[in-house]
Amino acid sequence: MDEKARIKELRALITRYNYEYHVLDAPSIPDHEYDMLFRELLDLESRHPELDDPSSPTKKVGYTVAEGFEKVVHERPMLSLGDVFSYEELKAWAAKIEEEFPHIEYCVEYKIDGLAMSLSYDDGILQKAVTRGDGTVGEDVTNNVKTIRSIPLSIPYKYHYEIRGEVYMPRKSFYALNAQREENGETLFANPRNAAAGSIRQLDSRIAASRGLDAFWYHVPDDVNADNHYASLEYAKSLGFRVNDGIKKYHNIDDVCAWIEKVNTMRDSLDYDIDGMVIKVNDYGIQRQLGFTSRIPKWAIAYKFPPEEVVTRVEDIFVTVGRTGKCTPNARLSTVRLAGTSVSYATLHNEDYIRDKDIRINDEVVVRKAGEIIPEVVRSLKEKRDASQKPYVFPSHCPVCGSPIYRLPGEAAHFCINNDCSARLVAGIAHFASRDAMNIDGLGEKKVEALHEAGLLASFEDIYRLKEHKEELLKLDKFGLKSYENLMEAIEKSKQNSLEHLIYALGIRQVGEKAARILALEYNNMDNLIAADVESLSAIKDIGPITAEAIHDFFTGVQNRRMIESFKEFGINITCLLKKAENDNVFFGKTVVLTGTLEGYSRQEATKLLADRGAHVSGSVSKKTDVVIYGKDPGSKLDKARSLGVECIDEDEFKERMNGN
Ligand code: NAD
Repeated sequence: MDEKARIKELRALITRYNYEYHVLDAPSIPDHEYDMLFRELLDLESRHPELDDPSSPTKKVGYTVAEGFEKVVHERPMLSLGDVFSYEELKAWAAKIEEEFPHIEYCVEYKIDGLAMSLSYDDGILQKAVTRGDGTVGEDVTNNVKTIRSIPLSIPYKYHYEIRGEVYMPRKSFYALNAQREENGETLFANPRNAAAGSIRQLDSRIAASRGLDAFWYHVPDDVNADNHYASLEYAKSLGFRVNDGIKKYHNIDDVCAWIEKVNTMRDSLDYDIDGMVIKVNDYGIQRQLGFTSRIPKWAIAYKFPPEEVVTRVEDIFVTVGRTGKCTPNARLSTVRLAGTSVSYATLHNEDYIRDKDIRINDEVVVRKAGEIIPEVVRSLKEKRDASQKPYVFPSHCPVCGSPIYRLPGEAAHFCINNDCSARLVAGIAHFASRDAMNIDGLGEKKVEALHEAGLLASFEDIYRLKEHKEELLKLDKFGLKSYENLMEAIEKSKQNSLEHLIYALGIRQVGEKAARILALEYNNMDNLIAADVESLSAIKDIGPITAEAIHDFFTGVQNRRMIESFKEFGINITCLLKKAENDNVFFGKTVVLTGTLEGYSRQEATKLLADRGAHVSGSVSKKTDVVIYGKDPGSKLDKARSLGVECIDEDEFKERMNGN
């Protein structure tokens, strides 16, 4: 396509995306994708001034407002911001300004991810709250905005006063709102920004009032009460406006970058979303000299954080087989940068997931990375299809051993029926050796696979026979004497593990770390556990009848009993070394999440103390979390926990409970 045609295409595409985002509050592509298209258009237009068009989206702000609310013409245009996506670009922006104005002072603020709002006051009384709209004409949403409690309805200032800022939805409100919508069977909001924008545009202000919105104020146009931006915000604060504390002043752009980097690493702990930072020239005099374009001020710029959602292509779909035989489909992606890391694979969960989202090989898809969760494909972009995409057909046979795979009625997953499938074997042995199981360092999945292929590892017991194969091991690729010795040492050490590690390592269906610990404490040694019947097993608190059945089945298997006998012969410990006192601790068996800064302990110390007391310390909050322990400046995890009804305790309470009070 020639550049002229591409400009035309991009203008039409971006106009459509603007409408979806600004009017419908329902974007169909991730922001980063939009930003890249916008940038492409800016570049092309700068190379083709002859194609200049005042109706191009690069010359406009937002979108023409929809019907429904009264239209209001802004006293001064409400503009957008130029943006940069790297520190190099930010430094280049600053260097250009400093060429003309050396010794600039910058204000650096959080870029709140909500929707822009203008408030105007006369005689100290709030008159109007207006959305940005297309920058010239906005919507009068005064009644809705008045329901936001932190917004002053009157201020101690008798002249005309306009202040601008961002209305946003705190994460706590967002989680609660979506949980409620899920319960009502309504569609969920994609993110807090869309939820905030959707809430402010409700004709019935009772709805907006119920949505837990809040706002920060960050700009007073032509403030006569100050001669710089920072001072004008100080003044706004004194009038009762909520100004974000995260604002900083710097003279050096390197310091600005260092601060941005710091915020990027801690932004998850804020209780609202920020999608970047805004860097502003502080001095009003210099601001005036720098001026504006039709769309953006030249004295400010937005630094956008690396995206958490990106578009890429599905190159292939393939199925991996886990230790239980579970077949999980995965997408191989064209490698893409996502939230600062390189991503080439994403999980597709199961057959239904692929079908419901209609994900096909060769599709362009939106990929998201949330917290520590592995990336997942959020949706496919059907409008971008050509004829090459065909619906994916889930395989009928195991990709590793060729046995048929089956799906139990009512279950989403497929399973390979072959107990001896080498993929299951390899994954099972890697699980046995994993950190929370027998903790055999140097025996990860790749190594297990290599040893299996070399014919040296076909069962758990074989791990303890490896020392008999020193010569063969040393012949293996990338396996030097040092690795051999380290591995042997780790294997020997694993023999001393307490019983709960061995129980968990066996990979018995339904028996995770928590159940393994409960069983080890209850039965004290493996022989007692093997002898337990279903009745006594299911009488234990936290062991349900299905788990009891699975444990009993496992130990009834002759092969499994033989394996335990071999373990004894190898000298593997089969008794529980956990102290009873630890079991009495209230954190025993609980899933605990830490958030914020604890004063008396580092994060590592607290994690260890909890793990020593039998707790499972997790990085993210879900319905399965038992307790959240919060310190200073807790983040969104605390909000999420509260909205899910999870117990939340502070550091003092944590200490008391640790001491068994
Ligand atoms: P923007 O969001 O990039 O930046 C300008 C806005 O930032 C301001 O209008 C203001 O509302 C806000 N802001 C937050 N904190 C601020 C602070 N401290 N100081 C000053 N302003 C602050 O630009 P925009 O014009 O509002 O929207 C364009 C952006 O919206 C795009 O870059 C894209 O990320 C997103 N968008 C996405 C789609 C899509 O389809 N996904 C479509 C259109 C727009």
